Amino acid sequence: MNVCVLGAGTMGSGITHVAAASGHNVRLRDIEREYVDDGLETIRSTVEGGVERDKLTREEADAALDRIEGYTDLAAALEGVDLVVEAVPEDIDLKRGTFGDVEDHVAGDAVVATNTSSLSVTEIASALDRPGRAVGLHFFNPVYVMDLVEVVVAEQTTDATLATAREFVDGLGKTVVEVDDAPGFASSRLGVALGCEAMRMVESGVASAEDIDAAMELGYSHPMGPLELTDVVGLDVRLDILEYLREELGERFRPPQVLKRKVRAGKLGRKTGEGFYVWEDGEAVRPADEG
Ligand code: NAD
Repeated sequence: MNVCVLGAGTMGSGITHVAAASGHNVRLRDIEREYVDDGLETIRSTVEGGVERDKLTREEADAALDRIEGYTDLAAALEGVDLVVEAVPEDIDLKRGTFGDVEDHVAGDAVVATNTSSLSVTEIASALDRPGRAVGLHFFNPVYVMDLVEVVVAEQTTDATLATAREFVDGLGKTVVEVDDAPGFASSRLGVALGCEAMRMVESGVASAEDIDAAMELGYSHPMGPLELTDVVGLDVRLDILEYLREELGERFRPPQVLKRKVRAGKLGRKTGEGFYVWEDGEAVRPADEG
């Protein structure tokens, strides 16, 4: 398949990597050359890491990298592609605008997917003249590690679009969970609910962040506790999702004060060095002061 990925950030570069490794020709497009180059460099170093760890051969790595091309010109990037996956920032107007721009250049039968983690795919799809071609493909980070892709069925998604989306994900060797276009889909809604309750428990002094995480890791076999996971995802990202879910689904998703306070203080988790834990070199080294 000829695939175009829009946005060369964390997710766009990950999706490009995995699609190219599965034999697709992929054009990676961003708005500035330096962003494209950064995305290509991320992919190159991940692929090289895979060779070092014997996950793929030198030949497979070279073949995958050869199938990727970087673009800034949208029309050129979209010429002749069968599937577009947008991975631009999580902003409804930006995503709707991106879908509209795509339709000006893409072939009539191409499928247009969004990697949104929480927004309404139906609302994004309605920016298209032919919205039946739209679908959600919710990948998880890091894309080359995570097995799950939520295939989000918008109100307008046709059976043919859904079939193409499922076939694409199957071909990447990933597992499809098909969900209706409901706020937070299946994964974000449940993940955020757990994280939110864990934060309320920290707030009311039920247990420390470390003990709450240990309870879920040891008692429920979660690979990572809900508070450490909040740090990894980013407290700002979780706050945005909670605010959206509160608007759509009600007060049970009201963001806890502790989360708002930390975000206002710039304590966004792993990426800033502190959230519910203090982070050094990508590792949680000790619980943060809750005061
Ligand atoms: P990011 O900020 O790392 O990357 C976004 C990229 O899009 C940037 O390079 C930016 O320059 C580029 N961009 C902006 N406008 C553009 C346009 N019009 N055309 C092409 N590129 C454009 O963001 P990300 O973390 O990769 O997230 C992208 C999407 O994936 C969001 O919708 C996010 O909610 C979703 N998502 C993120 C994660 C995650 O863990 N980061 C997981 C699942 C889904």
